[in-house]
Amino acid sequence: MAVLSAAQGRPLIELHGICKTYQMGALQVRAVCDIDLEIAQGELTAIMGPSGSGKSTLMNILGCLDRPTAGEYVLAGRRIAHLDDDALAELRNRTIGFVFQSYNLLPRTSAIENVEVPLIYAGARQRRARALEALESVGLAERAHHKPNELSGGEQQRVAIARALVNDPSLILADEPTGNLDTRTGLEIIGIFQRLNLERGITILYVTHDQEIADYTRRIIRLRDGRLESDEPVAEPILAPSVPADLQPVGSPA
Ligand code: ADP
Ligand code: MG
Repeated sequence: MAVLSAAQGRPLIELHGICKTYQMGALQVRAVCDIDLEIAQGELTAIMGPSGSGKSTLMNILGCLDRPTAGEYVLAGRRIAHLDDDALAELRNRTIGFVFQSYNLLPRTSAIENVEVPLIYAGARQRRARALEALESVGLAERAHHKPNELSGGEQQRVAIARALVNDPSLILADEPTGNLDTRTGLEIIGIFQRLNLERGITILYVTHDQEIADYTRRIIRLRDGRLESDEPVAEPILAPSVPADLQPVGSPA
């Protein structure tokens, strides 16, 4: 997590007046507008809001998959607007892991090979061992050689989390990661996010429609019509069943 040293004393994420407007022929669609937001390293946050309120647009901007049309984004102390596309891709690959609602795994490729993909892009060594380690940390080592269609939805999402994790990111962004899963399986996924957040200090943001799933974070941000509607701490954060109740967050006094 070397990039983080650039952000000492600063929030991991700073958004100032962020807007994203899409040009649709003659029509301008304002997907997000005037977003000011700070997120510190180590936070666990949910993003909620009705369909079309700009959640995915905001996630894509946070993940440097897309650039804002106005405003300033500072990630790990770096002004995104000052980076060219190559530098931005490198920052993204080294800093951020993504998880999607529909898993986005390569279909004819084993779990472990899916997890290796980001390591191939990064030109990393010891890819097999690192991919296996990532699968182990989501409890899926024994499924390493199964293909996605031989895995349940929850298992496929765990492979996707291992893939997001394998480059040792400081930030994981998940767009409706439990949207295709039943409640119990969804909670297993949330439990993995909670452990990664507490044990490794990884900053995690996930989008959800489900208030119950959002209540497993410590902060809930709501969007409406592309604007920030509210931003509030969770009154009584809860742990998923799979998370040990005595787990001490990384960096906390012994
Ligand atoms: P959410 O994830 O909350 O459902 P989105 O961020 O996907 O919302 O979309 C916000 C608004 O921006 C919607 O009105 C949507 O139609 C529009 N939008 C999103 N992506 C595009 C795009 N690539 N081109 C044009 N309009 C878009
Ligand atoms: Mg969306």
